[in-house]
Amino acid sequence: MNIVILSRNPELYSTTRLVEEAENRGHSVEIIDPLKCDIIIEKEKPTIYYKNRYLDYVDAIIPRIGASITFYGCAVVRQFEEMGVFTIAPSDAITRSRDKLRSLQRLSKAGIGMPKTVFTNYSRDVEEVIEYVGGTPVIIKLLEGTQGLGVVLAETKNAAESVLEAFNGLQARVIVQEFIKEAKGADLRALVVDGQVVGAMKRQGKEGEFRSNLHRGGSANIIKLDQDELKLAMNAAKVLKLPVCGVDMLQSSRGPLLLEVNSTPGLEGIEGATGKNIAKAIITFIERSRK
Ligand code: ADP
Repeated sequence: MNIVILSRNPELYSTTRLVEEAENRGHSVEIIDPLKCDIIIEKEKPTIYYKNRYLDYVDAIIPRIGASITFYGCAVVRQFEEMGVFTIAPSDAITRSRDKLRSLQRLSKAGIGMPKTVFTNYSRDVEEVIEYVGGTPVIIKLLEGTQGLGVVLAETKNAAESVLEAFNGLQARVIVQEFIKEAKGADLRALVVDGQVVGAMKRQGKEGEFRSNLHRGGSANIIKLDQDELKLAMNAAKVLKLPVCGVDMLQSSRGPLLLEVNSTPGLEGIEGATGKNIAKAIITFIERSRK
């Protein structure tokens, strides 16, 4: 097959691993920067122009679209879809998953457990908002944040008030969330491929840190998920129509709670922690889907 990886950075661990595994299985692979693609829209033959040639021979794409280029990246993915090319992540699903609030709304409607969450435009009633989520401490999260930046733990009502005021002054949109103390600074990441969990790790924040992001100095270890955790991860992937994704959860006294679903999960942390060949699982999923 001719496989294209849509990525801005060919040096990234995830990209190089996918290239390696695809080539091992006899495929030809190209890394293409989505921002350098021209999208040609016409009635008869929609196509994509890249570095003096037409990309009309591609069988499957692996979108690795960063949050900062969601709009253009998804337009390129959509064009490949119009051309009949298989993608491991549909453009609509990537766009939808990037909106944390919208994703939480859809997932809660589907019956998936999550920390109690409030979205408000109206920062004057801080007391009420805190009441909704069960009192302090509360988590305040920037809707556009990634890698744990823009996630704040407010221990008191005063602190919550100041943080909400500050975010409001910057016109930033935030959600207020119940703080899950039992998680003890750890979270779970399940890697889903073809709708099944193919690897899972527990990430623990460094001493004194409630955020477990590896970018914030957390560490990761392999973990065996229980039935509820497996079910939650697979359900979330199904609801958001992402056959390949990373599902983050917190362990709580009322079972697993969903944090977020990532449509472009990194492979380095999960392959390192589990010793599993996730890149190969993605390539064989493409092979099965193309048959
Ligand atoms: P990001 O997308 O920026 O990583 P997350 O929502 O995943 O933001 O939050 C970052 C980390 O903060 C999580 O991995 C988790 O360890 C911690 N965290 C987030 N929300 C909560 C919560 N409601 N209760 C307890 N810890 C949380």
